Amino acid sequence: MLGKCRLCGKRANIVKSHIIPKFVYAWLKKSSATGFLRPGDNPNKRVQDGPSYPLYCAECEALFSKYENLFAKKIFYPHMVGKCKTIDYLDDVKRFIIGISWRFLDLCMSDFHTLESGVTIPKNNAHEEWRNYLLNRISVCTPGIYLNLLSDSPNAANEQTKLLWYSYRGTDAALFIPSSKGMFVYIQLPKITIIVSVFPAPTGNVVDTQPSSGEMIDLNSPTLRDDFADFVISRVNILNEGNPSEEHLEKVRRTIRKNRGRFKKSETSKYLSEEYLK
Ligand SMILES: [Zn+2]
Repeated sequence: MLGKCRLCGKRANIVKSHIIPKFVYAWLKKSSATGFLRPGDNPNKRVQDGPSYPLYCAECEALFSKYENLFAKKIFYPHMVGKCKTIDYLDDVKRFIIGISWRFLDLCMSDFHTLESGVTIPKNNAHEEWRNYLLNRISVCTPGIYLNLLSDSPNAANEQTKLLWYSYRGTDAALFIPSSKGMFVYIQLPKITIIVSVFPAPTGNVVDTQPSSGEMIDLNSPTLRDDFADFVISRVNILNEGNPSEEHLEKVRRTIRKNRGRFKKSETSKYLSEEYLK
């Protein structure tokens, strides 16, 4: 499809892009008990891949892919098996974070996304700065960034299953808008949380600068802590709105019974709620 690329602005063939990178869905499928994905808001549907949208040209897509591949290799895959102990705040990691955050912010500003009622994206946001950084038109880009790698979970108490599933097997992208304190892109990948400040400008009061690890948003600061906890719970609830049907549960149980070896070795077995295991 010929169109205007939303990143470089050139008229070119527009390809379908994922917001959450494809390697995440591939890992979720591979490490699952059934070999399928099930969207949180529609658990009865088995899917092979995550959503994608026609937004960018192949050249820009390749630009995103380059840093996705580096992040997958240096951080994601090692972290999934508990072998990523420290993150060197490399330019590559930052480019991945800005890339995924820009794509989501850009999706929110496109016709493919409807903002929640009452939400508007302020005009002087970071969208243009991030675009110029991704296209190497500027070399410095300084939003507040928060990147957290969750440690592997101990046995979960039953009532926390939904939160655990969301944090360890879920994918999510949303705008986090703590009351009048700014706007952030929030990305949840399995065992990884990314938050990047969109507004106010980078020097805003929610950004703590820690020279050793790059620019960090301190989510434990009293101004953000409570808002963030409420926000995560609201996301967990939104993504658990759909309840799995008995037919779907039985289908999953049958798949598990057929290949108990795969299930035991799978990541799914650590976080699957009891209803799937009867
Ligand atoms: Zn392009």
